[in-house]
Amino acid sequence: MVDLIPKITATIPFLLSFLTLLADVTNAYSLPMTMTMNAKHTLYDVPVSNNGARVRIILYKKGITSEEVDVVSPMEIGGLKSESFKKLNPQGKMPCLTINHDNGVSDSSSIPESDTICRYLLHTYAHEGPSFLPNSYQSNLIARIHDMYLTTIQGCLYKATPPFGIYRTRAKAIEEFERQLSIINDLVSNDGLYLVGDDVSLSDATIFPTLVFAKFMLPKFGRSGELPAKLEKWYNNVVAGDSDFEKVHQEVTSSLRKWELSGRWDQIWLAGLIDNDPETIFDKIVAGDIPASIVYSDDDVLAFKDINPAAPAHLLVIPKVRANLSGLSKASDDHIEILGKLLKVAGDLSKDASLGFSDGARVVINDGPDAGQEVAHLHIHVLGGRSMTWPPG
Ligand code: AMP
Repeated sequence: MVDLIPKITATIPFLLSFLTLLADVTNAYSLPMTMTMNAKHTLYDVPVSNNGARVRIILYKKGITSEEVDVVSPMEIGGLKSESFKKLNPQGKMPCLTINHDNGVSDSSSIPESDTICRYLLHTYAHEGPSFLPNSYQSNLIARIHDMYLTTIQGCLYKATPPFGIYRTRAKAIEEFERQLSIINDLVSNDGLYLVGDDVSLSDATIFPTLVFAKFMLPKFGRSGELPAKLEKWYNNVVAGDSDFEKVHQEVTSSLRKWELSGRWDQIWLAGLIDNDPETIFDKIVAGDIPASIVYSDDDVLAFKDINPAAPAHLLVIPKVRANLSGLSKASDDHIEILGKLLKVAGDLSKDASLGFSDGARVVINDGPDAGQEVAHLHIHVLGGRSMTWPPG
């Protein structure tokens, strides 16, 4: 027993270091879920996604490798509408970042929204590359305005048909898009390479991909594609002077070109679908080149008296821009707004006694040869001032 005491005493330092080692190993396996040591992320995204591109700018500028964040197409797990993707993001949208803990604990959580993903990455990789968070309220405001007012209507740049956010016509959505760009333009400082100076910020990453889209697509809808002055200067400078922005520029534009080659715009009015039918006499009336007895006019609709009236009151109500509507059967979802407007104007005018209407009206659209359509520009006949028979001849 007495002999044993020195042996135990000699063993104590070894025992202590073993226990310390055991504690370290145990701690390593019980890391809190939020720690990124041993963690690998998957970013579900494709190059054409502009919200995904803002995340990619952060990855590129911080030098975050695919060992840390692997970029994978949602198609790898069945696509955006698949059950497996919807488990990660119930909205079925890109980008989506999953946080996979490969530290022995099986857990996977996901962040399904681009700004939240960016902020997570900025925090997680705070010590690598630029912070993206200069102390500038203008930077935060630009990103917020983008997400509140541009993201919600940007579908007007590439979606086939309205609505685009709250706007029921592409023209109105584009007008609002451009108005928001000029508001953002006022917040740009232009006293460095980036939006608010020499430090790249989250707002640069946020708006750049959307503006790549805008510059590519706006000319297809008859706009110049030139951004407001300060934004235009910033855009050209970052494309020329920052290789990571240039890379994202390449990714987005080459995807948009692929869409173009695959005929993506063919059925989109103006972008690919053009009204090639010959002009009619109604275009000349709209242009004021030939006279007409005009009874109503607004931005979109013109109404005038029929030159050869079939009733005491006989008006024609037409869209000012034909936009492929040579006849009713040419109507597409793009025309829903104008069709509603034409009928509303027809209904209003049919109540106007000063135009010869008394107690009701017949509202007629002749469509095609069987109906006797003569002028290939949609027009609504509004007839009244006498009682009519049915069926029509
Ligand atoms: P539709 O047969 O449905 O194509 O109707 C065409 C209508 O346009 C006819 O009722 C014509 O009388 C009318 N129209 C043709 N030229 C003119 C014109 N210059 N001004 C007013 N109405 C016209």
